[in-house]
Amino acid sequence: MQRTEKGFKLYKEGELVYLQASVLAASGFVDHAFSTRRGGCSSGAFASLNTGFHVGDSRENVRQNRRIFFEKFNYDYRFIVSSNQVHGTNLKVFDQSNCGEGALPLTARAECDALVTAEPGLPLAAYSADCQLIYFASWQKKPVVALAHAGWRGTLSGIGGKVVCYLKEHFSAHPESIFVALGPAVCRNCYKIDHQAAAQFQSAGWDNSAYMDPAGKGEWNLDLSTINAEQLLQAGVREKNMARNYWCTSCYPELFYSYRREKGITGRMIGFISISTT
Ligand SMILES: [Zn+2]
Repeated sequence: MQRTEKGFKLYKEGELVYLQASVLAASGFVDHAFSTRRGGCSSGAFASLNTGFHVGDSRENVRQNRRIFFEKFNYDYRFIVSSNQVHGTNLKVFDQSNCGEGALPLTARAECDALVTAEPGLPLAAYSADCQLIYFASWQKKPVVALAHAGWRGTLSGIGGKVVCYLKEHFSAHPESIFVALGPAVCRNCYKIDHQAAAQFQSAGWDNSAYMDPAGKGEWNLDLSTINAEQLLQAGVREKNMARNYWCTSCYPELFYSYRREKGITGRMIGFISISTT
C-alpha cells in the first residue's frame, strides 16, 4: 500500500497506524499526521480510533483515542485546538489563549474550516471522513502553519487558495515557498454529487473531464483532490512543494472511515499540524 514519495505514507507502530507526508516531514519545522481507524478502543461502526465526539460514539472512548494518537507525537490531547467545521471558508488565527478549544466535547468556539497559527507547539486539528484536510507550512520571516477542511462546498469556494493568499498577506509567506499536503479523501470513482452541486462546479469553470464527469442518473463524479491541487497551483504553490493525495477513504475500509460508504454512521479521522518546538 505504499504510495509515491510525494504523497502521504503509511506508518505502523504497534496497533496504531497513521500517515505522514514526506514534504512536511522534510520541512524540518513541523509536527503533523493524519490518523487512520486503526489502534483505538472504539467498537462497532466506530472501530477503532474514532476521534469525533459528535458522531454517536462513547465520549470516554473518543478521549482515550485522542490521547493514544497525540501521545505518539508527544502532545497532550487536552491542549489541541480545533473548530466547529461548517463547510465554509472562514479562517481564524489561533494562539496560546485558544489552547484546548475543541479538545473536549462542546469546547470548540470558532466556526471555521481553516485554522492558522504562528505559535510553536500549538497543534491545529481537524476531522474528516471523506472530506479533504489540506496542510500548510511556511517559514519566511517566521514559521506559520495552517490546516483546512474541504468538502465539496469548501472546494467549490476555493478554500485552499484562500489560505495561501492569507498566509502571503499576513505572514509574508511567499506561495512558492509554502509546503502543502493534501490528506486522504474520497476518490472520484467513489464520490458522486447531485446535479445542483455539479452545476455550481460547472459554472465555476471545473467543467472538464479532468475534474468531473457524468455518472448517470443525473449524478456526477467529482475529483475533489485534483480540484484542490489545481487551486493551490493557481495560487502559486509549486508542484515540488505539494504532496498530492493517493489515498481514497472509501476504497480502504480497513484503514479509513467513510461517511459516504457507511451512509453517515461512522467515525472520524483526525489530522493535525503544529510548529515543532524541538
Ligand atoms: Zn475510492
